[in-house]
Amino acid sequence: MKKQPLLIGIVAMALLLVSCQSDKNKKNATPKVVFIIVDGIAGDVIQKLNPPVLGEISKAGGFTLAHVGGGKDSYSQTPTISAVGYNSLLTGTWVNKHNVWDNDIAAPNYYYWNLFRIAKQSNSALKTAVFSTWEDNRTKLIGEGLSQAGNVSVDFKFDGLEHDTVKYPHTTTKVFIQRIDEAVSDEAAKVISAEGPDLSWVYLQFTDEMGHKFGDSQQFHDAIVSADKQIGKIWDAIKRRQSENNEDWLIVITTDHGRDAETGHNHGGQSDRERSTWIVTNAPQRNARFDQNPGIVDIFPTICYHLGLQIPEDVSREVDGVSFIGPIDVSELRAQKDNGKVVLTWTAIEKGSSEKAEIYVAETNNFKEGGKDEYKKMGEVAVSQENFELTLDGGNFHKILLKTPRQYANVWIVNEQ
Ligand SMILES: [Zn+2]
Repeated sequence: MKKQPLLIGIVAMALLLVSCQSDKNKKNATPKVVFIIVDGIAGDVIQKLNPPVLGEISKAGGFTLAHVGGGKDSYSQTPTISAVGYNSLLTGTWVNKHNVWDNDIAAPNYYYWNLFRIAKQSNSALKTAVFSTWEDNRTKLIGEGLSQAGNVSVDFKFDGLEHDTVKYPHTTTKVFIQRIDEAVSDEAAKVISAEGPDLSWVYLQFTDEMGHKFGDSQQFHDAIVSADKQIGKIWDAIKRRQSENNEDWLIVITTDHGRDAETGHNHGGQSDRERSTWIVTNAPQRNARFDQNPGIVDIFPTICYHLGLQIPEDVSREVDGVSFIGPIDVSELRAQKDNGKVVLTWTAIEKGSSEKAEIYVAETNNFKEGGKDEYKKMGEVAVSQENFELTLDGGNFHKILLKTPRQYANVWIVNEQ
């Protein structure tokens, strides 16, 4: 009996050593990211179905309801349309900046750099991958090989199967899309398992096809369960790599828009359900942003933080999202015009902090054409004050920037003509 405390002591010490060792390993681990977009599944549907793989990943990290659509009735309101949503994820900005208004992708504004460009610019040795049921994601949104998009190359790519109408005949049942999703997820699992690219994007489309065809229905739900299994192959590959290599994998799974409340057949508008999405991640530690109904734009800074990417200063001033991992200062910056004055409000993450925020204003938007904006400092305020009042001149356009020790936040004032 007397020996027991000593034994417990030794066991405790051993556990302590093991845990220090594992923390040390974690610190030196190579960060890796996979993000997956499963098309067109509103938040309530995922909550109702609770598919097993997404459930398991959520248990390792977390699940949250989220949103797309930008600021409703504001300058950043964004159509709840597929390519529009993908590009908000890729650039961390809403449509008023990235300029992809629909699936035609007519004139993307590549000055708002996407994740793949930032990854290569930050560290040219990083390996990137795209596994997609829609080729335009790589060729138009990332803009692979386009000089105006930074001549980005993607190291592992598997897409364009939708053009092979012999192998994948286009029938009205849309079952060919399911077969392409299957091939895409197989290849993603295989390449991730064998090569472990640093940044991978997987895009699966069949769920949206079933949503359009059958609305809220058994067929739509079956498609989600099937996508969940496809994600499971990728999740297994990640778990295997994580156990066999000194790697720190972040997986983020989301959707690009919800569906209409009446039938579930449609999307594109600004109803609550069309704007309602969700995010699943294995990140074990998330900051307060994760539980504030984050936006699809928040995934961009999250991925940059995990990979340790350097975002160019002028690009980071334009990012509309806030990372939901790592240390942050503020979220939810808003501007309210009131009798010639502008009242800024925001949410401080550390309520008692005495750290300062600086407020800047630019009256130009040269950035959108590749130019520079001159920001004028308007004042300083404690982050924890959560508001600031300023007077602007009579111009029709102002970009307001809040600079805190760890981030930028921005909001526009656009006067009605
Ligand atoms: Zn979609």
